Amino acid sequence: MTEEPLHAVIIGGGITGLSAAYYLQRRLTDKGLAPKVALLESEPRLGGKIKTTLRDGFLMEQGPDSFVATKKGAYQLVQDLGLEDDLVRNHAGQAYIVQDRRLYPIPAGTMMGIPVRLWPLLKSPLLSPLGKMRVVQDLFSHGLETGGDRPVGDFLRKRLGNHIVDRLIEPLLSGIYAGDINHYSLQALFPQIHQLSQNRRSLIRAMGHSYGHAKPARAGEARGQFLTFKTGLQSLTARIEDRLKSCVIMKGSPVSAVRRQGGHYHLDLDDGRSLETHSIILAVPGSAAADLFPDARHAISPVLLTPPTSVANVVMAFPQGITGISLNGTGFVVPRGSGHAITACTWSHLKWPHAVPRGAALLRCYIGGQNDARLVDESDAAIAEAVMADLRQIVALRETPSFYQVTRWKHAMPQYSVGHLDRLEKTRKAMAMEFPGVFLAGASYGGVGLPDCIREGEQAAHDLVDHLEQRNLLDSREVLNVD
Ligand SMILES: Cc1cc2nc3c(=O)[nH]c(=O)nc-3n(C[C@H](O)[C@H](O)[C@H](O)COP(=O)(O)OP(=O)(O)OC[C@H]3O[C@@H](n4cnc5c(N)ncnc54)[C@H](O)[C@@H]3O)c2cc1C
Repeated sequence: MTEEPLHAVIIGGGITGLSAAYYLQRRLTDKGLAPKVALLESEPRLGGKIKTTLRDGFLMEQGPDSFVATKKGAYQLVQDLGLEDDLVRNHAGQAYIVQDRRLYPIPAGTMMGIPVRLWPLLKSPLLSPLGKMRVVQDLFSHGLETGGDRPVGDFLRKRLGNHIVDRLIEPLLSGIYAGDINHYSLQALFPQIHQLSQNRRSLIRAMGHSYGHAKPARAGEARGQFLTFKTGLQSLTARIEDRLKSCVIMKGSPVSAVRRQGGHYHLDLDDGRSLETHSIILAVPGSAAADLFPDARHAISPVLLTPPTSVANVVMAFPQGITGISLNGTGFVVPRGSGHAITACTWSHLKWPHAVPRGAALLRCYIGGQNDARLVDESDAAIAEAVMADLRQIVALRETPSFYQVTRWKHAMPQYSVGHLDRLEKTRKAMAMEFPGVFLAGASYGGVGLPDCIREGEQAAHDLVDHLEQRNLLDSREVLNVD
């Protein structure tokens, strides 16, 4: 396709690959260079897991629905793209947890269920008196944590007891990461808590010291901690695509194989074409990276130790609104072993009022994860029926949705198990030694949230330019011409 190897090829057009392409283009053009960069995406559209659809006035997210406002990376990119005026902040409200077929408010003053302030938890009917006493014991804890990584579940059970973990913390964390907290890496998922536990004896005091100043959200309060865009998250990926003027974007172009060839890399595409490049950003899930680059499988495999889990979400539209138990809040989570299919449910019309017609309701429910992967493979109708049965029971829902949309995300939720950061370091070192110029980025490595993926993409772009500079590979000023 091109005679000279390209500066770089980015494989994968999700948010990681798009961020990498954007920052790569920017760094090269800032240096006065014409980037010889191609972005290859197997699907006919860019965005990966970010997928927004609009139907009958309902704005529906099939993958992520927002990003954390305070995490570095995402907001900077939004500013760089001039999209600040399109941002929408969620309406914060009371969230609930299902216990014994009843909804209990999640106590205020907790973060992911971990107490930052004790009093609201002590007043909550969610925990038994014994369970509360066990939590309070943490205030008188003697020992400091020492040593390296350990399972999140194990750490929290030791600090706060089993009761609060089973009834409150586990459902919240499983709702987010769709895995098993008994395997999650404390260092990878909660580096701040890991750090705090090394310096302070009581987890609750440490949390209060670090986060207690944050004003807790009250029911009905409009200011939340998540952001999306007026026309959905896809606005972000669409704007990046629009800005990638100096980068060749090849959609519907799956890469089938990558191999090293002399001093550079050779890529085979499914359609029989091929590309030569000096460097690559592999912005695809880790297992896909290992499959398409077999020579590097041994280097990538340490981070693939725990397979990703599968989930599905069901978005249901009710143009006339819903009745049943009035939820003055934004949704609920369900502990495992409760006998329900739903793991979490968001009242999207309350969380994101801009996303629905006036008076309408939009519910978004999750199923699957570590404990119920089989349901994800059932038919759309079976999944929707299981979800509706739960909603009838949990919130006395009486209405039938005018339409629903089921989206399956198979093997899509990376699981950072204990030792993840050490294994990641090993992988990155092995890649740098054996395959200089090839960079791994994305949710399989340095964080699953959108801000993490953006940061990963930006960092990979940065490292890649350094690599090209160190090897004097940035002297070409010709514009890429793809036939
Ligand atoms: C259901 C769900 C809900 C989520 N909710 C949130 C949320 O609310 N907030 C949040 O911050 N995060 C959320 N996340 C996490 C976040 O969405 C993902 O971690 C992030 O989108 C991953 O982006 P990525 O670019 O790394 O990967 P992907 O989006 O998976 O992109 C990888 C791309 O690579 C392409 N590809 C794969 N193989 C090849 C190949 N051989 N050749 C070419 N292209 C290839 C794929 O088609 C895909 O487009 C959620 C995730 C899921 C699954």
